Amino acid sequence: MAARLIDGRAVAARVRERVREEVAGMSTRPGLATILVGDDPASAVYVRMKREDSAEVGIESFHHEPGGDVSQETLAALIESLNGDERVHGILLQLPLPDHLDQDPLIALIDPAKDVDGLTPISAGLLVQGRPDAIAPCTPSGVMELLREAGVELEGARAVVIGRSILVGKPLAALLLAANATVTHCHSRTRDLAAVCREADVIVAAAGMPGLVTAGMVREGATVIDVGTNRVDGRLVGDVDFDSVRERAGAITPVPGGVGPMTRAMLLVNTLDAARARV
Ligand code: NAD
Repeated sequence: MAARLIDGRAVAARVRERVREEVAGMSTRPGLATILVGDDPASAVYVRMKREDSAEVGIESFHHEPGGDVSQETLAALIESLNGDERVHGILLQLPLPDHLDQDPLIALIDPAKDVDGLTPISAGLLVQGRPDAIAPCTPSGVMELLREAGVELEGARAVVIGRSILVGKPLAALLLAANATVTHCHSRTRDLAAVCREADVIVAAAGMPGLVTAGMVREGATVIDVGTNRVDGRLVGDVDFDSVRERAGAITPVPGGVGPMTRAMLLVNTLDAARARV
């Protein structure tokens, strides 16, 4: 029997509605500052979408576009000024930055209380410590929200995470561990990925490799979450061989329409949470 489809667009719409209602009831309007550096067209689209999403739920956006040749010092000063701006509850520095800029020290400058992308070393550390006040990056929190909405039992479940980036794989493994799953963390050097995956109740693929997860790697009835976003022949595909895996899995996310919309929605949640923590 074909797996149940976990509809990320529908879950994201419910999340956005919840944020909109909560924002409407707040005395302070949450504010999100976006910083776009350089002329990467994909980054420009992402930032525009984030600003549109914010406007739709009543979050005020403060956009900054300091120019592609901005110096490290000027960008650092901008981040510091946003740290001190009371109207701004979240700061989003769109990545990647142009080559002449050193990304890590700039990220580290963001006030952890405003780190709605969850990328500062402080946020990462709080997450690993399992602290409830940690702000998790949007994609892994989106995956957790999808699993919750789909009613997937994580307590004691065997979860396999494929990919160990600081943006997705590592924070996701920490979140699954905090949800009491037994987590196996796989990456490009993992031996016999197929055998590891076959033991799993939940597989989350975040490798950026089309067709990496095939039906033979999936236990009958397992939940498969596909974070991968790959362009193949002009088409957007995930890391999971969707058509074959769908016949074995119990529940599966599509690409597009799975994790992607959740990433956008969770930025709004993180901004709302950051604003609530301030007032
Ligand atoms: P990344 O390149 O930083 O990390 C990829 C990870 O996958 C690495 O840790 C690597 O060890 C692992 N890996 C690569 N090949 C592997 C293999 N053959 N077997 C096992 N592990 C392997 O990428 P990222 O930023 O973590 O993103 C991963 C994927 O998720 C990409 O396709 C990216 O576009 C996508 N993504 C989607 C969203 C979304 O909102 N849907 C958000 C972020 C990233």
